[in-house]
Amino acid sequence: MSPSYDYDLFTIGAGSGGVRGARIAASYGAKVGIAEEARYGGTCVNVGCIPKKLFVYASHFAEDFEDARAYGWDIERKGFVWSRLLANKDREIERLNGVYRRILANAGVDMFDGRATIVGPHAVEVNGRRISAKYILVAVGGQPRRPSWPGHELASTSNEAFHQAELPRRVVICGGGYIATEFAGIYHGLGVEVTQLYRGELFMRGFDDDVRRHLAEQMRTKGIDLRFERNITRLDRIDGGIRASLDDDSSIDCDQVLMAIGRVPLSQDLGLDSAGVALEDNGAIIVDAYGKTNVDSIYAVGDVTDRIQLTPVALAEGMAVAATLFDDRPTKADHEHVASAVFSQPNVGTVGLTEAEARRRHEQVDIYRSDFRPLKHTVSGRDERSLMKLVVDRETDKLLGVHLVGAQAGEILQGFAVAMKMGATKRDLDRTIGIHPTAAEELVTMRTPIK
Ligand code: NDP
Repeated sequence: MSPSYDYDLFTIGAGSGGVRGARIAASYGAKVGIAEEARYGGTCVNVGCIPKKLFVYASHFAEDFEDARAYGWDIERKGFVWSRLLANKDREIERLNGVYRRILANAGVDMFDGRATIVGPHAVEVNGRRISAKYILVAVGGQPRRPSWPGHELASTSNEAFHQAELPRRVVICGGGYIATEFAGIYHGLGVEVTQLYRGELFMRGFDDDVRRHLAEQMRTKGIDLRFERNITRLDRIDGGIRASLDDDSSIDCDQVLMAIGRVPLSQDLGLDSAGVALEDNGAIIVDAYGKTNVDSIYAVGDVTDRIQLTPVALAEGMAVAATLFDDRPTKADHEHVASAVFSQPNVGTVGLTEAEARRRHEQVDIYRSDFRPLKHTVSGRDERSLMKLVVDRETDKLLGVHLVGAQAGEILQGFAVAMKMGATKRDLDRTIGIHPTAAEELVTMRTPIK
C-alpha cells in the first residue's frame, strides 16, 4: 500500500512557474498546497516584467509629447510626478496579487502564507507545521546578484528601484543585459541623467551583433552616456550622493547606482540539502528535461533552475511538470526558439539564432537586413532608426533567426516566433503579402540577401 500524504503536490513559491504548476496540477485532480513568504505573483508581478513595463510606458511619454508637435499638437508639459506613477503602479500590482490568489483559490489550491523549507524528500515545514506531499515543486525564483566592490551596499538593485521614494537626478547603471538596458531607457525618459557601464566591448552579449551595435547607437543618440569596457571598482558616500570609482581611474558622482549584473537562484536555506537535492556551483537546482531533480519526488521550475530566466518559460516548465505528474503525459518544456523582447528604447525583439551562431552551425547562411527610419519619424524628425534582420539557412531556406530593433519589436515578433516554430522558410515570408504601411511589412519584403 502506498503511503498517504497531506498533498499530492506541494509547491514552494507562488511566482509564475509555481502558480502555473500548482493550478494546472489541481485541474488534473491533484490535491495541491502552495507556500509563499512574500507577495503572490513572484518577481514578474512584483519587481519585474509588469512594473517595469508600466515604467517603460511612463518614460516613453517624454518622446511622444515631443513627437506630437510636428503632428500639430501643442502640449504644455507641466512636469512629471514620480509619486503618482508609483502609487498607480502599486495599485495595479496589488490588484494582480489578488488575481493570483483568486486563481489559486478557484483552482482549489490551499495557500500557506509563510516560508516553507524542505525537511525530507516528501515533507516541508511551513509556519511551524510539517506537511507531507507525494511531490514537492520548488519554484522560489532568483534575486539580483550583488558584487563584491567596497561600498556595494550603497547601490540598489531592481528590487529597490521599483519602490524608491524619490527619482534620482543622476544615475549610474552597471551591467549590459536586459535589466540595465531597460532601466537606462526608463530613467532617461523620465529625465534622469543616465550613465550605463558595461564591462565588455559591446553590451547585450548573446544578442545578434548588429542588434547590439544598432541599439547602442540609438541609445547614445537619445543622450544616454553608454560606456563600454568600464566597470565599477568601489562606491563611496560623498556629500549629496555617491561616488562611483571606475576601473580606468575615473569616477562619476551620482545620486543612485543601480546594479543589474545578473540574477542568482534563491536556493539557499531551503532545506534542499536535507533531501539531498543536487545544485550547480551557482546554487541552481539541477533538473532533467522534465524538471525532476536527482530526488524522484522533488521537481523544480523557473529561475531557481537558471535555464532561461523568462516568465513564459517558467510557465511552460510548470505546465510540463503538472502534465508529467498528474496527467499521465511525460512532458518536457520546450526551450528551443524561445523569443524574447528587451523593453529598451527602442525595443529589441529576438528569436532563434544570431548570425554568428548560425554561421557556426550551418554551412551557408543568407542574411537579410533593413535599417530604416520609421514613417512616424519622417514627420516627427526624431533621429531614430529601426533594424530588421533575418538569418536564413541557404540549404533548406529555413528561417533560423529574426532580430528586430524598433518600436513594438516584441509585438511584431510574436507572430514570427510562431512561424519559426512551424518551420517557416524565407519563401513563406516572400509569398506573404505585407500590411502597409507598417514596420513589420519589412520582414516580408526583404528580397536580396546582403551577405
Ligand atoms: P543579464 O544576464 O541579462 O545581464 C547581466 C549583465 O551584467 C551582463 O551584461 C553581464 O556582463 C554583467 N555582469 C555580470 N557580472 C558582472 C560583474 N561582476 N560586474 C559587472 N558586470 C557584470 O542579467 P539581468 O540582471 O539584466 O537580468 C536577469 C535576467 O532576467 C535576464 O537574463 C533575463 O533572462 C531576465 N529578464 C528578462 C527581461 C525581459 O524579458 N524583457 C527583462 C529583465 C530581465 P557579461 O555579458 O559580460 O557577462
